[in-house]
Amino acid sequence: MSEKAARSTKTTCPYCGVGCGVLATPLANGGLDIKGDPDHPANFGRLCSKGAALGQTVSLDGRLLDPWVNGKTTNWNHALQTVADRFSATIAEHGPDSVAFYVSGQLLTEDYYVANKLMKGFIGSANIDTNSRLCMASSVAGHKRAFGSDTVPGTYEDLELADVIVLVGSNLAWCHPVLYQRIAAAKAHRPDMKIIVIDPRRTMTMDIADLHLPLNPDSDTALFNALLLRCAQPGVLNQRFVAAHTSGFEDALAAAKADSDPEKTGLSDQALEAFFDLFVRNGRVVTVYSQGVNQSSAGTDKVNAIINCHLATGRIGKPGMGPFSATGQPNAMGGREVGGLANMLAAHMELADPVHTDRVQRFWQSPRIADRPGLKAVELFDAVADGRVKALWIMATNPVVSMPDAARVEAAIAQCPFVVVSDVVSKTDTLRHAHVKLPSLAWAEKSGTVTNSERRISRQRGILPAPGQAKADWWQLANVAQRMGFAGFDYVGPSAIFAEHAQLSAFENDGSRDFDIGAYGAVSADAFDALEPFQWPAPKSSSAELSAIKHPEKRFFVDGRFFTQDGKANFVAVQSPAPRHYGLRLNTGRVRDHWHTMTRTGRSPRNSAHMAEPYCEIHPDDAAELGIGDACLVKLFNAQGDIIVRTLLSLAQKRGHVFVPMHWNDQWASNARVDKLVSAVTDPVSGQPALKGSSVFAEPFSVARFGFMVSRNRPDLSACAYFAVAQCEGGWRTEFALSDTADLGKLVEPFGAADVDMTGLGGDTRRVWMDGARLSAAVFLAAEPVLVSRSFLCDQLAADRIDPAQAALLAAGRPAVGTVDKGALVCSCFGVGANEIATAIEGGCQTVQAVGRACQAGTNCGSCKSEIRQILSKTKTQTAGGEEDREPLVIAAE
Ligand code: SF4
Repeated sequence: MSEKAARSTKTTCPYCGVGCGVLATPLANGGLDIKGDPDHPANFGRLCSKGAALGQTVSLDGRLLDPWVNGKTTNWNHALQTVADRFSATIAEHGPDSVAFYVSGQLLTEDYYVANKLMKGFIGSANIDTNSRLCMASSVAGHKRAFGSDTVPGTYEDLELADVIVLVGSNLAWCHPVLYQRIAAAKAHRPDMKIIVIDPRRTMTMDIADLHLPLNPDSDTALFNALLLRCAQPGVLNQRFVAAHTSGFEDALAAAKADSDPEKTGLSDQALEAFFDLFVRNGRVVTVYSQGVNQSSAGTDKVNAIINCHLATGRIGKPGMGPFSATGQPNAMGGREVGGLANMLAAHMELADPVHTDRVQRFWQSPRIADRPGLKAVELFDAVADGRVKALWIMATNPVVSMPDAARVEAAIAQCPFVVVSDVVSKTDTLRHAHVKLPSLAWAEKSGTVTNSERRISRQRGILPAPGQAKADWWQLANVAQRMGFAGFDYVGPSAIFAEHAQLSAFENDGSRDFDIGAYGAVSADAFDALEPFQWPAPKSSSAELSAIKHPEKRFFVDGRFFTQDGKANFVAVQSPAPRHYGLRLNTGRVRDHWHTMTRTGRSPRNSAHMAEPYCEIHPDDAAELGIGDACLVKLFNAQGDIIVRTLLSLAQKRGHVFVPMHWNDQWASNARVDKLVSAVTDPVSGQPALKGSSVFAEPFSVARFGFMVSRNRPDLSACAYFAVAQCEGGWRTEFALSDTADLGKLVEPFGAADVDMTGLGGDTRRVWMDGARLSAAVFLAAEPVLVSRSFLCDQLAADRIDPAQAALLAAGRPAVGTVDKGALVCSCFGVGANEIATAIEGGCQTVQAVGRACQAGTNCGSCKSEIRQILSKTKTQTAGGEEDREPLVIAAE
């Protein structure tokens, strides 16, 4: 197939909840060319660094291609019958609640729908929960308390129409980059637009901030309670809206008064006043919140504290205003639609409501139905640990890495009598405990729908053929259901599941429920294939033609009517949680170019180049007090366990706080599963774990030698006291440390005799192995953290031919004098490093655009623009009047 002749397919990015449209074109080498879909309303052609590198994640290396039962490959018939028999026998002996599914916001809606239908409607238990519990369950609970339904009122367009955007607990620049780019573009177009960032940490999102409020952790409720008091003042309070469309204002106000000590926030009076003033003076305000709000022991209260302020000012359901929850995963919203959480039924109905359970049971014609909430994620793994759950099916997620108290979760799974794991890769920290492994279709192979943060349903389309025996998750579930003797699972494809899902959303609805896509209840396979992205609601109309569907208002609550019994929104009286803390406060989160447990982004050299190692960001003064040096190794520990990561001294951290990324695990590092240290404390309403609020201690991790190496093959690192390995073009790059210098022999033994072998003063070592004109491996060992140019060495590893003169210089670990050393990678699309950007700035570039023109950095996906601006700012070459000249108005209490 010629690359030009190949047709591109419209699909959706499988990473974050922005839900960007992608144009994927098959390449002759089996890969994919990836571009942003200019017609998709979520991104209009933009992609971030993760989406843009999707083509590097589709190889079959490391894929799970066959079913496995008890350590042996097998066929589907045997694997599915084993699962069906074991689940049936467990249920027969111990009852429906002795089995559980733990699923994922990575599943497509059709997979999710079948999983939920099987567990709740046929097995008769609600023991199905999802990793979305870790992501946005507090938003769901907050919405339901306030609106009577899990409704996101607004749209992405509101972010561009707003005069003020308040970002709470949200590093949008790295976690929802295309939304961030849309806001940045809107601000560039309307410079008067104000951006307020509320976050204890200074993140890259600060780049577009007019105001940063580095509040104390978990003081968000106190902050928004104080704002509610201001909103209650005459001239600010929307009395007409409050009287006509809400309940509970006085109680919420009384609670806010009782909680109104601004000291709790740790913010200066000046900062608070600036925030209140911007909020109350501007009608068009959107408050965006994500994991910094949700992942808390008081996350639901924080959500309601935010919503209270929007209700008091009537700023909801109108263009450019409203509370807006940014979901973390590509299909967190689809999971909510089908009832993928243990406390929800399907189609936004309630397990606790007998009218709803009766309705769903009649629709499914099922033999039984769960009539009470099941076990939420933390409770579910507690039940696995204590033996109440005896058969567990995990799909598209890696709880041994991502769950709080991860070592305990691993021990629970390891001793569970029967564990099934459906995944696309052959090795994860969770798969090692599976009795049955089921090979699933990966992103570019599966077909179905996902829903993004603004309620927009888009198609993911199969572009590449199914490899090996891999099958869709819905197919696995439907086959097991049929083998368990259940009718109603004979689906011919995802379109039939989607149609049933749409029919259920409309079943006995008549406008009483927010989620209604009845217009698609008769969608054919062809129409499903051609489905354009659409926002719900999309109720059934008189026309049978999908193209004639008239979507009602794209915002909810335009008429001030909510989904509560009396049609009024509820103010919720909330109070700040009492601080509970010792040692250093541990915050966990994402980095720019990795996704979750790196099963996909870890395969991409581009994604791996930006941050190639797990790290602990710590304030320099805390590090100095603890005797921890920059770029050294640190041990973080508490009663639950310990991890070893690199130190990154940073003024972005508050004193007493540390940040560690959530991604690294045993496949990529020696001991970096940070969720081992996270306590399993949950929000009492939502059950969401407090993944950003654990306590740890820190101490230096002493080693005899620090090391760095590049190699064509992944090295055996069993001799290392510490390692972090990452893919790079042409092979692998490894940071490592040895507790005994003699261990170097074991590490390099497979390479044979070195072509260059230098041992310097203090035993520092540099060795190079060549394979003809190509670099085969290079190892550097030193008493201090190794100072060589990682990007230079990775480039040499990728080179087809190295000039013999250059080869002699490899042991220096740096390019020859007069050649630019790229430095740390900033722009992953074009492989541009920090030193190259600095050179461009020294050459006269004064804006991000000028840097882009000089060296291409930031001119593709734009995810690195914040970092480029930071380098510009550091070099202090930005001059007044430049095309992007803007001094950030940062008012902080520091
Ligand atoms: Fe994918 Fe990036 Fe878009 Fe998120 S912002 S959907 S990760 S391209």
